[in-house]
Amino acid sequence: MKNKVNIIYIILIIISFMFVGCNKFYEKKLNLDSSKLRIVVSFNPLREFVEAIGKDKVDVQVIIPDGTEPHDFEPKAKDLFTINNADMFIYNGLNMESWVNKVVENVDNKNLPIVEASKGCNYIDNDPHVWLGITTAKVEVLNIKNELIKIDAKNKEFYEKNCSVFLGKLDSILTSYKPKFQSLNNKNFVTGHAAFAYFCRDFGLKQNSVEGVFAEGEPTPNKVKELVQYCRKNNVKTIFTEEMVSPKVSETLAKELNAEVKTIYTIESKESGKDYIECMEENIKQVYYSLK
Ligand SMILES: [Zn+2]
Repeated sequence: MKNKVNIIYIILIIISFMFVGCNKFYEKKLNLDSSKLRIVVSFNPLREFVEAIGKDKVDVQVIIPDGTEPHDFEPKAKDLFTINNADMFIYNGLNMESWVNKVVENVDNKNLPIVEASKGCNYIDNDPHVWLGITTAKVEVLNIKNELIKIDAKNKEFYEKNCSVFLGKLDSILTSYKPKFQSLNNKNFVTGHAAFAYFCRDFGLKQNSVEGVFAEGEPTPNKVKELVQYCRKNNVKTIFTEEMVSPKVSETLAKELNAEVKTIYTIESKESGKDYIECMEENIKQVYYSLK
């Protein structure tokens, strides 16, 4: 028994040496630039915000890979390793990352700044999609800017300037489309999963969706029937669909209603190479024309 315990200790020591070596190898392999801040974010919208503010002063790594449905993502050991080696870790919060508490508990680097980007957002219960509302996205952007300044005060002006340019773009989208949506009679649209409540709140709209807030999977036949009735009643002529959520159900629904299928971006993953502003503008335009 004692021998067995010794062997386990030896293996543990070997593993920890391997990690030290691994760390150097990892830095080399990723060609990480030590002059840049190493910011690790949970998923795509946060990468967009950090890059918009930090530009060439930051090196952003994303935990949830592009093309992965983020609502049922589970991190692996390598993700913990990535977070451990960061200068800052930023997550959305509001239960977008159900795994985050476990990761935070297990981080060895106890000085690592850990940032909940949605802190202070006027949130809707059980709905994490704050980045899809311009008003709430602005809170996340400001939080990120303030945290970057905390760890890199010498570049304060640079971050402030980039942040105000980005916020200016968001404001101009909001102010140009608010009156347009106000002038519409029809305010109801149908999408893949219920990600657009904050977007709706900004513009006075109402969403209905094939899947719920956490993209729980294909809907029941009853839910589909209900959606068909809803679309008929509200004269819905466009069904929006997302790359990662039940496009087949959306297509069936559209066929049944003789409606069009159009793409909408949740930005949860990098889609079609478009950036945050491009996706938001396109979403807003498409929804507006579908309701007009
Ligand atoms: Zn979602």
